[in-house]
Amino acid sequence: EKFNIAIDGPAGAGKSTIARLVAGALDFVYVDTGAMYRAVTWKINSAGLSPEQTSEMIALTERMNIRLVPGENGQMVYVDGEDVTGVIRTADITGNVSRVASIADIRRILTVKQKEMAASRGVVMDGRDIGTHVLPDAEVKIFLTASVQIRAERRYKEIRDSQPEITLERLERDIAERDRMDEQREAAPLMQAPDAVLLDTTELTVPEVVERILELCKS
Ligand code: C5P
Repeated sequence: EKFNIAIDGPAGAGKSTIARLVAGALDFVYVDTGAMYRAVTWKINSAGLSPEQTSEMIALTERMNIRLVPGENGQMVYVDGEDVTGVIRTADITGNVSRVASIADIRRILTVKQKEMAASRGVVMDGRDIGTHVLPDAEVKIFLTASVQIRAERRYKEIRDSQPEITLERLERDIAERDRMDEQREAAPLMQAPDAVLLDTTELTVPEVVERILELCKS
């Protein structure tokens, strides 16, 4: 029996790690919607658009083809055939993505694509507005959170080898700022759906969180 699982929460709460493991355990498809906002941001940056060129950004989003492909080392992301998996994780993109994601028309375009991806069910989708806007009828909804300190520490351990110039303090500041923008935007802000289960992972391990979610899927 296939159903949909929505996982939302602030930056660095472990959504993608958890969502990928849950999808693997159930043999469901994992969809990382943050990667789609990052891909759009990359395309806008590559086109050299300035922050005021909103209508050009929307037109570009309308035209671009984003593909999420499950790979051995996680999900691969392609924009118009080009592999952008690595480049969409750079600090440059991370610093611009929330501004791009605040544009209502860009959200509308990506939301349509995301609904299509989940239409045949059997999807674990993570993001900020999945339980509230994208899949309001998801059978299981989780809101994953953790203290900002622990989220910054976890992210720091992930990236310190590849991006040694980034300090823990800077990560903590950036995460807090991104949360603030995501929570305060007008269009589909980061928010816990009324029917979502809150899971604070500050003191839980990854397998513990996965186990809780699989339990919730049974009931
Ligand atoms: O999940 P990730 O940190 O990769 O998301 C990057 C950014 O994309 C978020 O900070 C947010 O601004 C935006 N986003 C969003 N809605 C989603 C997923 C991501 O606005 N469903």
